[in-house]
Amino acid sequence: MLQDLPREEVTRLLGSWSQPKGSAEAYEWFRPKGEQRFWPKYVWKGYIPPKYSFTTWQAVKGRLMTRDRLTFLDIDRLCPLCALEPESVSHLYFKCVKTKFVWQGIKLWLGIRRPLTTIPSAIKWMARENFGSAVKKRAKWIALAALVSLIWRGRNALIFDETPFDPERLLFQIKRITYSVLYSMFSDDLVVSALRG
Ligand SMILES: [Zn+2]
Repeated sequence: MLQDLPREEVTRLLGSWSQPKGSAEAYEWFRPKGEQRFWPKYVWKGYIPPKYSFTTWQAVKGRLMTRDRLTFLDIDRLCPLCALEPESVSHLYFKCVKTKFVWQGIKLWLGIRRPLTTIPSAIKWMARENFGSAVKKRAKWIALAALVSLIWRGRNALIFDETPFDPERLLFQIKRITYSVLYSMFSDDLVVSALRG
């Protein structure tokens, strides 16, 4: 649970969030409240590096600053990846032609057939349908966190560094991260047999 995370860990995460704010404010920002108590245990999992869970956390808290939310800035509102529709969390993760490929690859790899339409509903579905081998269950959670995080980073790298968004490379990286976390917990044989087909 997030409230059990060491305070230093939470304040360390602050570094990637917002420099000007104080650590007490950051801790308050991360602390679950009211109906938000559902999310922490499904977002912050001990085996998933927090740097990947962080973007999912921002998403479930409604704090991903996609261009549709930057109304105070005079900027292009179009999705930076496809330039076809306004950018929103919904578009970026579930409707954009550039990220569809990544989802399809991950869903095929992990045998997820259900259409996923929002990050919170994907999490709720995974929490409900949490059966299968231990390796596969964890693979889904790791891959989801890595996907949400890497798409966001890829989007930022394109906007701020003009690094081309490469869906194939991203898909490869998500699998690589998932495998490396799994190999730290399970034997090679278990991992290979769980993710074979
Ligand atoms: Zn797009």
